Amino acid sequence: MSARLPVNLMLVEDERIVAFDLKRQLQRFGYHVGAVVASGEQAISRIAAEKPDLVLMDIHLDGRMDGIEAAIEIRVRHQTPVVFLTAYAEDDTLRRALDSRPFGYLVKPCDGRELHATIQMALARHEDELVVERSEERLQLALDAGSLGVLEWNPEENRLRGDLRLGMLFGSRLLPLDEPWDTFIGRVDAADREHVRAALDSTLVGGEAVQVEFRTIGHPSQVGYMEARVKAYSSVTAIRRVVGVLHDVTQRRLDDERLRQSSVVFHATADAIVITDAERRAVAANTAFTRITGYAEDEVIGLDPNFLLRVSPDPERDAACLQPDAADFWHGEVRGQRKSGEQFPAWQSVSVVRDADGKTTHLVTTFSDVTSIHEARQQLHHLAHHDPLTGLPNRLLFDDRLQNAIENARRNEQRCLLLFLDLDGFKVINDTLGHAFGDELLRRVAARLQGVLRASDTIARLGGDEFVILAGSANPDYVTQLAQKIVDQLRVPFPVFGESLSVTCSLGIAMFPDSGADGQQLLRAADMAMYTAKAEGRNRYHVYAPDMSERANRRMDVEQGLRRALATDSLVVHYQPRVDLADRRIVGVEALVRWLHPERGMVLPDSFIAIAEECGIIEQLGHWVLHRACSEMLAVVEAKAGERLHLAVNVSARQFLGVDFVAVVAAVLEETGFPAAALELEITESTLQATERSRLILDGLDALGVALSIDDFGTGYSSLSILRDLPIKRVKIDRSFVVDLPASENQRAVIEAIVAVSRAMHMATTAEGIERQEQADLLQRLGCQEGQGFFFARPMPLAELSHLLGHGELPKR
Ligand code: C2E
Ligand code: CA
Ligand code: CA
Repeated sequence: MSARLPVNLMLVEDERIVAFDLKRQLQRFGYHVGAVVASGEQAISRIAAEKPDLVLMDIHLDGRMDGIEAAIEIRVRHQTPVVFLTAYAEDDTLRRALDSRPFGYLVKPCDGRELHATIQMALARHEDELVVERSEERLQLALDAGSLGVLEWNPEENRLRGDLRLGMLFGSRLLPLDEPWDTFIGRVDAADREHVRAALDSTLVGGEAVQVEFRTIGHPSQVGYMEARVKAYSSVTAIRRVVGVLHDVTQRRLDDERLRQSSVVFHATADAIVITDAERRAVAANTAFTRITGYAEDEVIGLDPNFLLRVSPDPERDAACLQPDAADFWHGEVRGQRKSGEQFPAWQSVSVVRDADGKTTHLVTTFSDVTSIHEARQQLHHLAHHDPLTGLPNRLLFDDRLQNAIENARRNEQRCLLLFLDLDGFKVINDTLGHAFGDELLRRVAARLQGVLRASDTIARLGGDEFVILAGSANPDYVTQLAQKIVDQLRVPFPVFGESLSVTCSLGIAMFPDSGADGQQLLRAADMAMYTAKAEGRNRYHVYAPDMSERANRRMDVEQGLRRALATDSLVVHYQPRVDLADRRIVGVEALVRWLHPERGMVLPDSFIAIAEECGIIEQLGHWVLHRACSEMLAVVEAKAGERLHLAVNVSARQFLGVDFVAVVAAVLEETGFPAAALELEITESTLQATERSRLILDGLDALGVALSIDDFGTGYSSLSILRDLPIKRVKIDRSFVVDLPASENQRAVIEAIVAVSRAMHMATTAEGIERQEQADLLQRLGCQEGQGFFFARPMPLAELSHLLGHGELPKR
C-alpha cells in the first residue's frame, strides 16, 4: 500500500447527519477528512485549495449540479479520483455515473470496512494510473524532442496507424493516422515503395529491428527523406504488429549531400588545399596537394604546411590570418619546394574559419601551381625580347642591356664598347637564293658569332643582316681583337643546304664615352664606323672617329652625288692595258670607272662602288659603264681588226644577279654594235655563290659569245674546282698574291698552283697589280699568260689609250 498517510479525503454530502457519521467512521480508519461540503459547486470551488487525495461524492445533492456532473468536472480539471456514495442504484444513474469513470460506487448505507477497502483500491488504482500517465507523458515528450512519429503496421489488417506526429510528418496534418496500407504507401515516392514494403516484410521474417530510408512525395519544394526504424512484435493475442518510429531526415540528407559534394570538390579541385587548425597543424590535405607537392596526406598531417613546403614566412600574410581582428583572407604569390626538392611558384590563399565566438578554429590554405603561367610569361618575355630567327636578343633587350652597361661604365668610370656588324652583299644572296637560304645563313652567322664571343658579351640582331655586340670587356684591345676574329671567322664559307656560301662582314666599333654619351649616339657612331669599313672595301672593321659623322654625311653625299653624276654624265671610263707576258704586247684593256666630282676632282671607284652596291645604284652605274666602254672602244677594236684586243668590264654581283643581266648585255651589244667576241666580263667569286642562278646567266652570256673571267681570284674561298663546269675563260690572280713577289715563297707557290689548275681546266691566267719588272718576269716564268699593272700602264683616258695603241711604247723586257 503506497498511498500516503494520513490520506486526505473530501466528503460531499448534503445530509449533515450522514456526513457527520461518515466522517467519524473514516477517521476511525485513520483517514483525514479535510473538507466536508454539501454541494457539487462547493466541492469544485474548494478542491484546488484542499488538494484531497480522493473525493467521496453523494450523487443527489442540493444545488444546480448533481454529484455525477461535479465528478466529471473534477476528473477533467484535477484528475482527483472520485468514489460515489449513494442511496440510488437505478440503471439510469449507474450509466451516467459510468461516464465520469469513477473509482468506486458504493450504495448507502454501507459498511465501514467496505468503505475503507473501496477507498484503498481506488487510491492504489489512481497511483498506478499516475505512473502510466507520467511514463506516457515522458514517452511523448521524448518522441516530440526527437521529432519522431510512432508508427504501427498491422499486417493482418494491412492498416497503418500513427500518432499525431506521424500525421504531421506525412502531409503536415496534426491528426493521428489510421489508414489502409495502400493510402500510406501512396505517400511514399514510387521508386522507394517496393523497398519499404520489403523492409517491413523482412521484420516479420527476421524479427530484428530494421531501418529503412525512403523519399516521400508531397513536399512541394524538395524531396523529403524519412527514416523508419521498425520491429515486429507478437502480442499475447498472437496478433503480430510492426511498430517503430519515423524520423524526418531530410535536413540530414541534404547536409550529407552537401558534405559529399564538398568532399568531391575538395579532392577534385586542381588547387592544393590543406586545412590546418589554428596552430597551423594540418588536419586534412586533398589529392591535388599530393600531386603538386609530392607529399602524401599523411606526411603533412600534424605539420605546418608552410614549413613542410619551405614557404618563407610572410609577416603580412601572418598578420592577415592570425590576429584576432584579422582580415580573414590573404593571397599572394609564394615560392615553395616540392618533396623532390624542385622549387615551384604558387599562388597561395589563406582563409580563416572561425567559430560562433569569432575564435579561429581552422585555416584553409590553397596553393595553385603557377609554374605553367610563369613559363608562359617567360616564353612571352623571351618572344618579346628575342629575334625569332636566330634566337638572339632583339633590339628591345639589347637597348636595355646597353643602357645598363652605359650606366655601369659611367659609375665605374670605365669604357663600354659596342660593335656594329653588317654582312657584305647579303642582299644579293637573299634576293637570288631566296629567303630560306638567307634565313639559314643568318642563323649560321649568328651561331658562329656566338662561338667567337665570350659569355660576358651580348650579341643581338637588329634586323636584316645587322648585328650588334656589346663587349663585356671594357678593354679596347679586346674589342679590336674580337672584331678581327669575327672578320676572319665569317670569311670561312658557310654550308647552307648543301651549298657553300661565302659572306664577309663589315664592322664598326664605338665606345662610351669617347664616341657618344648615350646608347643612341653610340649605336649611331658604331653604324657610321661600319659604313666606313664598307666604304674602305668591306671585310674589315673600323673604329669610330669623331670626323666620321662627317663621313656618314659624305656617304649620303656619295649616294646622291652618284645619282646626279649618272644623270649629268659626270662619270668617265679609264682603260688599263693588259699585256701578253710573252711578248709584252697589249692584248686587252680593263674598263675602270672614275667619277669627276665637281669639288673633289677625280674620285676612284673604291670609295663609291661599295656604296653604290649597298644602295642599289650599281645596276644603273654598271649598265652605264658597259655601254660607255663598248661604244668608246668600238672604234679602237675595229681599228685593230685582225689583232687580238679585248675589252674587259667589271660586273658587280648585284648587277650580275639583277634583273635580266643577259638581256642587258645583249641590248648594249646591239645598241653599240660592239662585237661580243671582243667583250670579257669580270665577275668575282661571290657572284658564283648563287650556283643555279649564276649558271643560267653564265650560260646565257656564253651563248651571246661573251667571255667571262673571275676577278680577284684567291680572296674568296671558292676552290677552282667550282669553276670546272662553268664557261669561265680566265682567272685573274689577285694583286695580293703578286705584291710581295718575287721574295715571297708562299705567294709563288699559290700562283704556281693556280696556274697549274687553270691550265688543266683550259683557263687562261692574268696576274694583276704588277708594279715591277721582276714581278712580270717571274709571273711569266710561272706560266701566267697575261699581266696587268702600273709597271705596264696605269688606267688612262680613251684618248691616251688610243695614242698608246697607235704609237706608244710599253716597257719591254
Ligand atoms: P679591280 O677590278 O681589281 O681593278 C683593278 C684595280 O687595281 C684598279 O683600281 C686599278 O687601278 C688597280 N691597279 C691596277 N694595277 C695596279 C698596280 O700595279 N698597283 C696597284 N696598287 N693598283 C693597281 P681602281 O680603278 O681604283 O678600281 C678599284 C676597283 O673598283 C676595281 O678593282 C673594281 O673592283 C672596281 N671597279 C672599277 N670600275 C668598276 C666598274 O665599272 N664596275 C664595277 N662593278 N666595279 C668597278
Ligand atoms: Ca677587275
Ligand atoms: Ca682585280
